[in-house]
Amino acid sequence: SASSAILFQNWRRRKAIARIPPRPIEIRSDEIVDGVIGLIGNTPLLRINSLSDALGVEILGKAEYLNPGGSVKDRVALKIIEDAEAQGLLHPHTGSVLFEGTVGSTGISLATVGKAKGYECCIIMPDDVAIEKVQVLEKLGAKVERVRPASIVDEKQNLARKRALEFGNTALVDPQKSDPELVVSTKAEPSEVGHETNSILSNNIIKLPEILRPALENKPRGFFADQFENESNFYAHYKGTGPEIFRQTSGNLDAFVSGAGTGGTIAGTGMFLKKALPDLRIVLSDPEGSGLYNKVKFNVMFDLKESEGTKRRHQVDTVVEGIGINRITQNFALGVDVIDDAYRISDEEAVAMSRYLVIHDGLYLGSSSACNLVACVRLAKTLSKGSRIATILCDSGSRHQSKFWSDNYLTQNNISIDPSIIDRLLES
Ligand code: PMP
Repeated sequence: SASSAILFQNWRRRKAIARIPPRPIEIRSDEIVDGVIGLIGNTPLLRINSLSDALGVEILGKAEYLNPGGSVKDRVALKIIEDAEAQGLLHPHTGSVLFEGTVGSTGISLATVGKAKGYECCIIMPDDVAIEKVQVLEKLGAKVERVRPASIVDEKQNLARKRALEFGNTALVDPQKSDPELVVSTKAEPSEVGHETNSILSNNIIKLPEILRPALENKPRGFFADQFENESNFYAHYKGTGPEIFRQTSGNLDAFVSGAGTGGTIAGTGMFLKKALPDLRIVLSDPEGSGLYNKVKFNVMFDLKESEGTKRRHQVDTVVEGIGINRITQNFALGVDVIDDAYRISDEEAVAMSRYLVIHDGLYLGSSSACNLVACVRLAKTLSKGSRIATILCDSGSRHQSKFWSDNYLTQNNISIDPSIIDRLLES
């Protein structure tokens, strides 16, 4: 896309000029934290001792599960809401409602940050997602609506967008599908804005003109968070996760590994790190069934429609929740040019890694974190001793008890549970 090209050009230019100095990061541990939002970000970078010692390569995990909402998505929820507030699209304590389609983590983060800031939350999710995520959402006061699992063409996103429009008729829209006369453009004069009550305002691309702001303040709004396309997601990582990892490693880092759901993490963190450290390798860890592996390796999308004669599914059918997708989102597109390589990780390997880490490190992680660490081990095998790899520990095992961490569920689905797979991988 155009913005991806611009970021890439900027990166090239910067690369030619100089390394960017690390941006100063607040250290909060000695201070009183300003509410729950003050707990978001600045997570520790954890040396995974078992893997690092066995490999002779340091494997460092960014402990995102320590965020107050329990995952890396707290950063994204906060940035999406703050950017919308700065654009005048959201006002706290007005009865405004955040809408999102999600497999859970982003919903829990939106509900958490929403409550802390004064918003209600409505989450649309597939009905095969681990039940504990729904329970947490409901305890957080969010309304949950379920849709069919492994939905075709992002059913949950479309419904979230529709619900936001129904609620306030002021949130986002797909500018391509909407009547051009009703679309507010950044360049438009207020007189060109059209029918105010029907105005379709993109929270992404289009800024609310100053003149409309007072009229819409204090009114309840429906706001579609749109984590897949909303670039605030990318910037949460470009301005947060990336600089933090740079500072925590003093720039002494050889590779960064991440999975991609929306793509915000790998694109935002990857773009920052690549600009700061041009020789650093950015590597995608992709579960089986996801099309991103082929996109990175061969620049083609694997299309299930052609291969299986079924309707193209955007959601990947795997026990690993939160990563893997069969389309290129805007957030992924922003960083695709800096991704150097990809590994395809099986359910068995991710399950084995999660059990291995509990046995050897006392580390109880979720499925996408386990996937990332399998990719780290594979990558470490190709690097010289003493190298350093950072990855993301997205959430903890407590979000995955009824599926990924349920031996019964795995056995019923013919997924073997064998931590020695990791011993063999380390020895190979
Ligand atoms: N891990 C988990 C548990 C997630 O929920 C997600 C996001 N859906 C990811 C990883 C992937 O992060 P991103 O959306 O930034 O690609």
